[in-house]
Amino acid sequence: MRPITYHKLGNFDLWFLSDGEFWLDGGSMFGIVPKNLWSKLVSSDEQNRVRLGLNPVLIRAEGQLVLLETGIDRKPGEKFRRIYGLAEANPLLGQLALLGVRPEEISLVINTHLHFDHAGLNTRLLDGKLVPTFPRARHIVQKQELEDATHPHERSRASYLNDNIEPILLQFEVVAGKAEIMPGLWVVPVPGHTLGMQAVELASEGQNFAYTADLIPTMAHAPLPYIMAFDLYPMTTLETRKRMYERWMEGDYLLGFTHEPGHPLGRLVRTEKGYLAEPVHLSEKM
Ligand SMILES: [Zn+2]
Repeated sequence: MRPITYHKLGNFDLWFLSDGEFWLDGGSMFGIVPKNLWSKLVSSDEQNRVRLGLNPVLIRAEGQLVLLETGIDRKPGEKFRRIYGLAEANPLLGQLALLGVRPEEISLVINTHLHFDHAGLNTRLLDGKLVPTFPRARHIVQKQELEDATHPHERSRASYLNDNIEPILLQFEVVAGKAEIMPGLWVVPVPGHTLGMQAVELASEGQNFAYTADLIPTMAHAPLPYIMAFDLYPMTTLETRKRMYERWMEGDYLLGFTHEPGHPLGRLVRTEKGYLAEPVHLSEKM
């Protein structure tokens, strides 16, 4: 398990957590990029799967605790866990406990989108019943995303598991478009992977951070055409990337990558071959 790392960004305290790892088909992860190119960046197993991280972030600001994403759903059972190479339990709650945080102390959850690998601990099983994992938290989600997640079609149905959505319908707080959720913390639409996906941006004392959601799932995905086959609207992903990359370069944003299997922080750099991501190692201790 990747150790928790801490970073202070102006008024915000950030803890980079892990909900473990999972495995997805390498071809699906890299879209039109042929294996002889992506296999130079990441290795695959005998089923052609690549290892991915699950990287929620805990934020403390203004006396509130905010959680970006809730890890992966492990509730569907043993076969589901085998397909995705998942261990049985979610490490995320143990990581919060290590920091002395109880689930009911989280006042805000930001669901970048409602796929099962991003909203999996919106609920948990307690004595065979589905209950909210973070019972006092408002869950911020784009209106478009909640609509699409509750009306899935044949190509999106496998990603939206109702158990992570329906039991907490009353806890969702929908926003439409860019919105400042608390001073210095914005949600920003980044459509493409889904139409209603949102990134999270923080700005404080001249420092900027963006949690990129599945717009840039890992650092290996930073080049513009390295777009997942899972994306419902790949050309929209390309347009969104061009717009956001420019913004994040200009503001010297520190970036958080939701599926980076190792250290989850980096920055974009522009090279003669186009955009790349470079890891940023912060020296601070917890
Ligand atoms: Zn994902």
